[in-house]
Amino acid sequence: MSAGRPAVFLDRDGTMSEERGFIDRLELLEIFPWTTDAVRLLNRAGFAVVVVTNQSAIGRGIIDEPFLQTVHDAIDRHLARAGARVDRYYFCPHHPEAKLSAYRAVCRCRKPEPGMLEQATRELGLDPARSFMVGDRLIDVACGHAAGVRSLLVRSGHSAHSGDAPPGLSNPDAILNNLMEAVGWILRSSSLSPAR
Ligand SMILES: [Mg+2]
Ligand SMILES: [Zn+2]
Repeated sequence: MSAGRPAVFLDRDGTMSEERGFIDRLELLEIFPWTTDAVRLLNRAGFAVVVVTNQSAIGRGIIDEPFLQTVHDAIDRHLARAGARVDRYYFCPHHPEAKLSAYRAVCRCRKPEPGMLEQATRELGLDPARSFMVGDRLIDVACGHAAGVRSLLVRSGHSAHSGDAPPGLSNPDAILNNLMEAVGWILRSSSLSPAR
């Protein structure tokens, strides 16, 4: 049994940045003011920071993969200005009714399915038992729990203005106002020793 690295899996829209529906123009990307500090705290504490995002906009033909890369490059530049870093981005381009047949699939990567977390765990050598998921929707929580990681709901996106939980999805381990509060919770409840 190998002791992998702990990770924090982050949903993108509504968690790192404003929930704006499909981000199909770079101007729509508005990263929350606390995101950089939150990510840097995770970097320094020794967590792998892994973004996991459903991007059915690709399958729907609203954006293409190069544009998604452009958005993630913009996030990286923003974070890098203050010394923060995402280790890897994973995205699911699929949708069961995608307009583009290449992306029309019932897949294992579209949250709440845990495929992206499982792939990241394999590829980056992560330890789910010491890892966390943070997202603004209950599909994020369900996805995290399906992958065996503790999962936090933040109120900065969908859950800020949506009502009751759909039945059958798992309850979050905690509900926080935003990513910075979630990172505080993670650092307090993590058994990880402080970064040297
Ligand atoms: Mg979201
Ligand atoms: Zn997928």
